[in-house]
Amino acid sequence: MSQDLASNPSLVSRPCPVCGGSSSTERFKKQTLRIVGCDACSMVFADPIEKGWADGSYYDQLSGPFYLSQAKLEGDYATPRFARELRLFRRFCTGGTVLDVGCSTGAFLYQLGARFPGDYETMGIDVAGPALDHAASRGIRVLRESYLDTPISDGSLSAVTFWAVMEHLENPGHFLAKTARLLKPNGVCFLLVPNYRSLAVRLLGQKYRYIFPQHVNYFSRSTLRRFVSGQSSLTPVLETSMHFNPLVIAQDWRGRGEFVADRDRAELLKRTTAYKQSKAMMPLKAVLAGVEALLGSIQLADNCVMVLRKSGEAIGSRLSRDDSVGREVIAKQMLAQAEE
Ligand SMILES: [Zn+2]
Repeated sequence: MSQDLASNPSLVSRPCPVCGGSSSTERFKKQTLRIVGCDACSMVFADPIEKGWADGSYYDQLSGPFYLSQAKLEGDYATPRFARELRLFRRFCTGGTVLDVGCSTGAFLYQLGARFPGDYETMGIDVAGPALDHAASRGIRVLRESYLDTPISDGSLSAVTFWAVMEHLENPGHFLAKTARLLKPNGVCFLLVPNYRSLAVRLLGQKYRYIFPQHVNYFSRSTLRRFVSGQSSLTPVLETSMHFNPLVIAQDWRGRGEFVADRDRAELLKRTTAYKQSKAMMPLKAVLAGVEALLGSIQLADNCVMVLRKSGEAIGSRLSRDDSVGREVIAKQMLAQAEE
C-alpha cells in the first residue's frame, strides 16, 4: 500500500470506518481497487481510496453524465424504483420534516411527496451540483452543501434517510453522529447499504459490479450492527435485507470482472425497472418477489437495511412545540438559500 500511496498522490489511506482500527489485511485487488478486512472487527473496505471519492468532488464533477443520463433518470423516477423504501419509510414515519442525505436527482423525495401529498416537509442534501439542479427542477427543495457542515438545528428532524449512501463515504461514522444530533426525540434514521454477504457477492465474488471505486465501504449485517452501536442514542428498531436483481448476476457471471461503465449500469437498471412494469412479466415478477422475500428473510438479498430510532427524552407537548420550531428554522434556511 505504501508503494501505491507513494506513487499516486491522489490516494489517501484510512483506518477502519467502523471501529477505527488501523490494522487490516488485504483481501483482494480489483484493477485499481484494493479491498482489505479490518483485523479487529472484520469490516471490509477500500484502502487506500481516491481523494475525489473521499471529499465528494468526483460526484460534483462526474455526476452530470451519469445521474442525468436518460437511462438513469428513467430508472430512478419509475414507480417501482423506491417502492420498497417508501413502504418501509411510511411504516416508521407518517409525517414531519424529512431530510434525504445524498438525494441525487431527488427521486425518493419526489415519490414520497407524490404518494403522500402534504404529509411531509422534505428536503434533499447532496454535493453533486448537476444532480441537484435536476432535483430542484422537479420541485424538490435542495441544500447544496456537505451534510457535516449543514446548519440545520439539532433535534429538528423527524427522519433522515441514507439510501445507498454510507458505502460511498470516507467517514460514515461522522454522518451517523450528525444524524443522531439532528433527529428530534423518537425521530428515525433509515440506512440502506449493499450487502457484502448477499447471494450475488457469494456467487460472483469480486466480479460483482458493485465492488468498484465509488463504493469504499462493504457492510454486512454484523458490521452494520457494529457500526450503528457506536451511536448510543440510536436504537435499531428494524433490520432486514431487500432487493434482488438476477439480471445483474447473469451479466456479471458472464463478464470478465472488470468495472462496468456508468452508462451500462444505468441501462441495465432501466431495463430491470421496465420489466417490473410490464404486464407480460407479471408471473415472473411474482416468482422473483417470492425469491426476494426468501433471500431477505435470511439476509442474502442485495442490500442490508436498518431503521434506527432516536431515544425519546421529550415526549408529549414539548415534542409538538419542537416540531414547529424545527420546521420554522428549516423554512428560513430554505428561503435564504433560494434567495442566494
Ligand atoms: Zn474495524
